[in-house]
Amino acid sequence: MDQAIRSDDSCLHPLDAPERERLANVRPRGWRNPQPADRYNLVVVGGGPAGLVAAHAAAGLGAKVALVERELLGGDCLNIGCVPSKAIIRSARLYAEMRSAPHYGAQVPNRAAAGIDVDFPAAMQRMRCIRARISREDSARRLINAGVDVFFGDGRFTGTDSLAVDGATLRFNKAMIATGARPDTPHVPGLIDAGFLTNENVFDLTELPRRLLVIGGGPLGCELAQAFCRFGSRVTIVQEMPMFLPKEERDAAQLLSDAFARDGIEVRLDTQVARVRVENGHKRVDLVNQGHSDTLSVDAILAGVGRLPNVEGLNLPAAGVECDDKTGVRVNDFLQTSNPRIYAAGDACLEHKFTHTADASARIVVRNALFLGREKLSALTVPWCTYTDPEIAHVGLYVREARERDIPVKTFTVPMHDVDRAIADSEEVGFVKIHVKERTDRILGATIVARHAGDMINEITLAMVAGIGLRTLANVIHAYPTQAEAIKKAADAYNRTRLTPGIRSLLQRWLAWKL
Ligand SMILES: Cc1cc2nc3c(=O)[nH]c(=O)nc-3n(C[C@H](O)[C@H](O)[C@H](O)COP(=O)(O)OP(=O)(O)OC[C@H]3O[C@@H](n4cnc5c(N)ncnc54)[C@H](O)[C@@H]3O)c2cc1C
Repeated sequence: MDQAIRSDDSCLHPLDAPERERLANVRPRGWRNPQPADRYNLVVVGGGPAGLVAAHAAAGLGAKVALVERELLGGDCLNIGCVPSKAIIRSARLYAEMRSAPHYGAQVPNRAAAGIDVDFPAAMQRMRCIRARISREDSARRLINAGVDVFFGDGRFTGTDSLAVDGATLRFNKAMIATGARPDTPHVPGLIDAGFLTNENVFDLTELPRRLLVIGGGPLGCELAQAFCRFGSRVTIVQEMPMFLPKEERDAAQLLSDAFARDGIEVRLDTQVARVRVENGHKRVDLVNQGHSDTLSVDAILAGVGRLPNVEGLNLPAAGVECDDKTGVRVNDFLQTSNPRIYAAGDACLEHKFTHTADASARIVVRNALFLGREKLSALTVPWCTYTDPEIAHVGLYVREARERDIPVKTFTVPMHDVDRAIADSEEVGFVKIHVKERTDRILGATIVARHAGDMINEITLAMVAGIGLRTLANVIHAYPTQAEAIKKAADAYNRTRLTPGIRSLLQRWLAWKL
């Protein structure tokens, strides 16, 4: 890792100042592992969000803690996930906004004949600066200051209460597996030989691919397809299923398809990538849609087809820990593995692979493993968001899930084009949809499609966690004009349903009597 961060031959970038700062924080040069303690209260394997949260929390409460990281502290989130993706999405959005400047009554100076001048290397440089700045939070120095023993190297269990790293043995009362996940590789003949990008190397690009094929219409594929399109790549996104974001509600996914089309992304749904080959330096990709084949030429291929847990190499059988190659470490509702001393958190064991679930699950482990807690994973209310434009956020049950559980549902929907702030900002695409249990105001779930859906969903999550019903949300004053007013409008719509004909006629009679 001396001169360049290696990824793929097409994307080497020099170790510039922000990169040097990041690495100094998350993998300091010349690091020497400490002498292990005789025994630890908690050994954490993996220094991503889950591992860092657990190590800091446990050490802060007085536990003797060791953290083992094989590569870079901060894990996927800081280095190759949330942070770099959100940073480039913001730059890409600016380009989209610049293109629509005339709509807002503005003209962009120095507009190139073919559109906006895009400085992709500068956007990547900005991303690296942001990543370096955020890396301070995840640094080895902060862990040491918190009293954590930090070991760099591959963690490998050697027994039910011991783990080897870099020639040392760490003995523990409790351990937590937080080894995260990695990108799955699509099974496409020729793809590996042709070379492809994943989240592990796409953020190292120094040049914008002129033509980019994105395989996979999940959150990662959708976010990056839109970002690269807005930077100026000619993007084709291929999804095997008939809709993007298959877990989301259909109307939400449809709005995203429409937004992609407006951006100029070529959308290929219900389509399989049959084969890839290299001809005259171009990647030729055979696509099949309902029996019809055609071939695309592209300069780069980005695969985002799912994630696999990092469980091999840990020697889990020696520790008596059961796992599955696809779903990861097997845990019970208390996040305890088949070895009662060993717990797991984050992407290594969870279905919902997010930084905030990694964080929440790590906190559960600290309480349950070290302090006789009985906190349950199933008790969490987990929101999530796909950071496309518009954003698509969700919390709680989908209608289909409620129906599967025989829970009667009533849904209150407010389109964003009925919200003054969305109109003022020309950000009218989307809706707020809140599901309640029929004949009650108990919120079962919500989907929000809006420019700031990720921020807006937190209000619904708070209501659900605190047991606040839709009726109370109607009484919460929302600052005017904000897009979150859509939530209040949905709550007002609920309140109107309480005005039954009987109550209405009673009110009328009262008012008539008062005349
Ligand atoms: C492109 C992209 C964008 C994303 N955007 C978002 C987002 O916007 N919001 C969100 O909430 N989530 C997002 N995520 C998901 C988020 O990054 C992960 O859910 C989160 O990083 C999981 O944290 P973790 O600690 O479980 O695992 P990781 O972050 O994967 O950390 C695991 C660590 O364990 C280490 N490790 C593995 N094996 C060993 C071993 N044997 N010994 C020692 N160390 C080991 C790894 O090197 C790694 O550092 C995104 C992911 C990607 C790929």
